[in-house]
Amino acid sequence: MACVSYPYAAPVSQTLFDRAAAVTPGGVNSPVRAFRAVGGTPRFMVSGDGPYLTDADGREYVDLVCSWGPMILGHSHPEVIAAVQAAVARGTSFGTPGEGEVELAEEIVARVAPVEQVRLVSSGTEATMSAIRLARGFTGRSKVIKFAGCYHGHVDALLAAAGSGVATFGLPDTPGVTGAQAGETVVLPYNDLEAVWAAFAAHPGEIACVITEASPGNMGVVPPLPGFNAGLKQLCADHGALYISDEVMTGFRVSRAGWFGLDGVEPDLMTFGKVMGGGFPAAAFGGRADVMERLAPAGPVYQAGTLSGNPIATAAGIAQLRLLDDAAYGLVDAASERLRAMATEALSKAGVAHRVQVAGNMFSIFFTGDEVTNYEQAKEQESFRFTAFFHSMLSQGVYLPPSAFESWFVSTTHDERALERVAAALPGAARAAAEATE
Ligand code: PLP
Repeated sequence: MACVSYPYAAPVSQTLFDRAAAVTPGGVNSPVRAFRAVGGTPRFMVSGDGPYLTDADGREYVDLVCSWGPMILGHSHPEVIAAVQAAVARGTSFGTPGEGEVELAEEIVARVAPVEQVRLVSSGTEATMSAIRLARGFTGRSKVIKFAGCYHGHVDALLAAAGSGVATFGLPDTPGVTGAQAGETVVLPYNDLEAVWAAFAAHPGEIACVITEASPGNMGVVPPLPGFNAGLKQLCADHGALYISDEVMTGFRVSRAGWFGLDGVEPDLMTFGKVMGGGFPAAAFGGRADVMERLAPAGPVYQAGTLSGNPIATAAGIAQLRLLDDAAYGLVDAASERLRAMATEALSKAGVAHRVQVAGNMFSIFFTGDEVTNYEQAKEQESFRFTAFFHSMLSQGVYLPPSAFESWFVSTTHDERALERVAAALPGAARAAAEATE
């Protein structure tokens, strides 16, 4: 851990965190929220408005996390809030089919050409877990190829990641995942088509699917090299396996049709979450009708959920998606471009070796001079510099993801005023990064 002093205290957040730690493991309900990678007190947020968050100590921040992606229209968008309020007034859950589910499914099918049918679930984890079960059920095969550094939620089979960074059988990376589960997962280095080719050759007729983040954002932003996704698709087709593109993060964020809208490679199955829920727990998986029709009750592969297609979540999701037209994506893209330019300028002036990597309007900054194309390279960056950078930004009212291995997110509401505040904070943070020591 770098030697960093935390520029100011957050006494109310600290008190809440102490209370949380007494009743919740590590004080949080999702590990990265605990600030362990950067140290200091996680901020307990109490409200959000457009590009701003306010914490329990009454401090306001420009939010560059956007709830890890979903809040693409900013916080408390009036039309999303109105849709949610109207839905709540009609009741919160019926456990029956409802029109909102149909509308949300129709919206997804209309936007993303490879999705002929879609099933709604409540989290990205559920979506990838179900997509893998379906791929296994459809192909009658058991093995799954995934890539080191790609995150697909905390699905047992997908938590396996290569510790050594070479193509290998997955070993359980976390207690609780059995060797049998991990043994069905082949973990390969990202952006390495030869490794995928070799894995298919080593396991003839055994591989049910390849799952990949459409453009990874969970090891920092590491886009696919030209031809990588198309190569995956071809290898899957050649070997009778399904190509699953995980668009939980990129879906409806980087374009109307997500990453598919940018690279046009047609997956057999796709997974979605985050933006499509408008800040509520809604996610989905979908794709080829002949594959999706294997799902219960149409087919034999079981999958279900008490709150799947929840009327409030679907109302929020539909409202958000309908507002996401070309003009909205133009605003998000422009804010992202501006921020990237500002960060590059500040870090260059301070003499900090860095690399801004971009996927549509998602981006992250690696503290290294070299291009990052896989997880091993991502880990070589000087993350201690990010720690200093992060705390300087936080102390100046800019809320970044509390890890060097996460994407930054912006919204349609990141306007001139918000960006000026980030611009004012960047030179100090860049200097802090330059002066940081391991
Ligand atoms: N897939 C990807 C690409 C993700 O980024 C995430 C979450 O960050 C997930 C799946 C899991 O989604 P959730 O956290 O909703 O379970």
